[in-house]
Amino acid sequence: MPPFLHRTKVVATIGPASSSPEVLRQLIEAGMSVARLNFSHGSYEDHARTVKLIRAVSDELDVPITLLQDLQGPKIRVGQLPQGEITLHKGSRLTLIPIDHFAEQPDTVPIDYPFLAEEAQPGTRVLLDDGLLELTVSAIEAPAVLCQIVRGGVLKSRKGVNLPSLNLRLPSLTDKDKQDLDFGLAQGVDWVSLSFVRHPEDIRALKALLAEKGATVPVMAKIEKPQAVAQLDAILDECDGVMVARGDLGVEVNPEKVPILQKRIIRACNERGLPVITATQMLDSMIRNPRPTRAEASDVANAIFDGTDAVMLSGESAVGEFPVQAVEMLVRIAVEVEQILEFPNLPPAEIDATHALSEAINTIDQIMDLRCIAAFTTTGYTARFAAAERPRAPLIALTPDLAVYRQMNLYWGVMPMLLNQPASSIEGIIEQIEACLRQHHLASAGDAILILGGTPMQKARGTNFLKIHTLPSEP
Ligand code: PEP
Repeated sequence: MPPFLHRTKVVATIGPASSSPEVLRQLIEAGMSVARLNFSHGSYEDHARTVKLIRAVSDELDVPITLLQDLQGPKIRVGQLPQGEITLHKGSRLTLIPIDHFAEQPDTVPIDYPFLAEEAQPGTRVLLDDGLLELTVSAIEAPAVLCQIVRGGVLKSRKGVNLPSLNLRLPSLTDKDKQDLDFGLAQGVDWVSLSFVRHPEDIRALKALLAEKGATVPVMAKIEKPQAVAQLDAILDECDGVMVARGDLGVEVNPEKVPILQKRIIRACNERGLPVITATQMLDSMIRNPRPTRAEASDVANAIFDGTDAVMLSGESAVGEFPVQAVEMLVRIAVEVEQILEFPNLPPAEIDATHALSEAINTIDQIMDLRCIAAFTTTGYTARFAAAERPRAPLIALTPDLAVYRQMNLYWGVMPMLLNQPASSIEGIIEQIEACLRQHHLASAGDAILILGGTPMQKARGTNFLKIHTLPSEP
């Protein structure tokens, strides 16, 4: 397939609306780079089938697709309601009780958090079903918690519960997450994201678990808790990428705070060269309609102006009526915005040889008419920092490592290419790069290209050379 025109990456959550071979193929052809598997939903059987299909279609079309496993994390939910749902009336009372103590009674709802009576106090806010319904705690009668309904509506079984002001006594990785991770690793996922990250230790714990299993999959922190926002820098020190998870973030900190936090998180990631995804409700109305609202189109554009690496679809592609049109729309907005996009040249958070070279790329890219930038990388690090400069010239990242090839497909503007043999010298790299660019019609004789990489070619972060190279006539 010819390279895509857009440089902002498109992440699409795969679900019942998009897991057939035909729709997956259309999503890839429309410009999806990352398929998100949401482990809050779906059976292992479904996920395994989807992984197999995505790998097959991606190989057939010769388009890399990154598999992102999204772990549910410590999410609190309403338990099974005897009638399946209950109507909450504003101003009435409701009792919350841990599942283990629940017996059917009027106006009583089970929740799967056993410590609520110990931690809540009168005045604590309880948000249900993505914040659509709201309660305030009025009294504690352990294990029951008595609440007043502030915002009513219909509450269904298994809906989410948010307790933004409490420091929840829950592990960062639940038993379900650990099981899901084993399954995901066995399926060969390329990235893992963790929901409800609160502290840097949450990321360290997941990385330690991955290391125990001998896995080198990069970890993405989903920022959706006020505690995570408060420790953003420390979390960014630990993770390999970030998702601005605006769904739960908007419940935990209120919607009016989300735009500012989005800008702050994206900027902090851009400064560090960390890839960042902006997620949730980007084209929400396209779950039902073939065209987005103008506000949604502006939201997508503004996330790109903010500097996001990727934009994400959730319900739009997982359960919506127009999954392919939603991807096409993201691509159309990205192509439009990228024509006038100007990135601020942010000072790097740390200075090392890679950062210095990235700055040099930026300068050369501005003053020379480069056909492309070719980053040779064994770990993806060189590609990540080149992408963080948001160069004008197409950025092609070449690696002999299949896992790295798939991982770096999430980075802004990176076109990953898989080399079929490891390189042992700079001359060897240049030869392989020349052959690969010619084969994919990405450069031809006489074109100026910029080559970037590390030598010796050990598997470590060591970008240390830059070459302005003119492609010679075919040997
Ligand atoms: C979010 O909350 O925005 C998000 C992406 O997470 P999830 O879809 O798992 O709720």
